[in-house]
Amino acid sequence: MHQPSMQKRIAIFGSTGSIGTQALDVIAANPTLFSAEILTAQQNEQLLIEQAKRFRPNMVVIGDPNKYTIVKEALDPLAIKVFAGVAALEEVAALDCYDQMLAAIVGYAGLRPTLAAIRNRKSIALANKETLVIAGDIVMQTAFENKVPIIPVDSEHSAIFQCLVGEVHNKIEKVILTASGGPFLGKKTNYLVNVKKEHALQHPNWSMGAKITIDSATLMNKGLEMIEARWLFNLKPSEIQVVIHPQSIIHSLVQFHDGSIKAQMSLPDMKLPIQYALAFPNRIGNQFPRYDFKSVRHLTFEDPDVKTFRNLALAMEALEKGGNLACVMNAANEIVVFAFLKNRINFLDMTTIIEKTMQRIPFIQHPTLEDYFESDAAARNFAADQINL
Ligand code: NDP
Ligand code: MG
Repeated sequence: MHQPSMQKRIAIFGSTGSIGTQALDVIAANPTLFSAEILTAQQNEQLLIEQAKRFRPNMVVIGDPNKYTIVKEALDPLAIKVFAGVAALEEVAALDCYDQMLAAIVGYAGLRPTLAAIRNRKSIALANKETLVIAGDIVMQTAFENKVPIIPVDSEHSAIFQCLVGEVHNKIEKVILTASGGPFLGKKTNYLVNVKKEHALQHPNWSMGAKITIDSATLMNKGLEMIEARWLFNLKPSEIQVVIHPQSIIHSLVQFHDGSIKAQMSLPDMKLPIQYALAFPNRIGNQFPRYDFKSVRHLTFEDPDVKTFRNLALAMEALEKGGNLACVMNAANEIVVFAFLKNRINFLDMTTIIEKTMQRIPFIQHPTLEDYFESDAAARNFAADQINL
């Protein structure tokens, strides 16, 4: 007879990425607690096949339909179901065979599957911050209506979430998001104009996917995270502060209305917030390297340079104004980061094009989901036109 399993069945959307592969490491280390039920990739069919052979999920999705046959033939003998194409991501997210989605697709593409999982009443471990940047009000409202917990994976938001455990009735004065400052901390515009993608891809503390690594170099990542924090923790823009903390030991802080500040600390390793989100409300043991005061003795803090790193200023404007502005900014950012990675534009062009796009696309104060989709498409077209993509 089938015994109910104690394993939590995880659907990893974006299993071949930086977050996805680290999540599989966490699952492999805790086989009695977790199983990989669904795995998805966009174009890396070889890694998806390898992962499926090892973790034996119920099903996989390959985004690129041209790769369907390769994946199907490889996994048929194992009776693993194979789906392909954009629509399949949403369809699979709406199935009942899993317990929690790890939303680890990068960018706008993560929004629809995550919304489908929320409507399907599945708990969400959220790495894909763009989902909240684009349509945070609708996503959080849908989660509230469906009684679905959204547990952050982003290290700063995991830190805040951890600081808030046991504090439900206590008023937050502000949250303080820490930022490493990225590879160009302390640099000025005359330096940034010449930086190449190879340099921008060298993050000092974290190894991550290409898009978020560029976002970290421009400080757009911190701007996206301010907006993410606004929705996750229901904060006013004025309650969110950013501080540069180059050692990345303190992952963020919460200041309560009695002036007390709580922080969460550890060495920078995404496996920890991933594991926390999968195991919440429990903590599970691990062998990750520990932070030792003897190895990093000096924890330093400084203000972000928003005059040089203007993407952060633009994100602050989007946070302040609300409406569809963050959605527009995010769409333009995805286009310019892609263009920078293709050596089509220089580092500072990214900001110029995002700003122009934010000025050009009509502002909508109270967008519907359809409005967000349309704003995203219009912003992408406009930004791409600026680059002749
Ligand atoms: P990666 O680029 O490493 O991985 C992205 C994943 O999404 C891959 O599995 C990729 O498949 C898949 N994917 C890419 N494009 C599409 C698409 N159009 N449709 C469906 N799937 C797609 O990204 P990261 O793991 O670095 O980041 C994932 C998310 O987590 C981002 O939103 C990022 O901001 C967030 N995050 C990441 C952190 C990190 O340390 N990496 C830290 C905090 C947040 P394929 O491999 O086949 O291309
Ligand atoms: Mg982060």
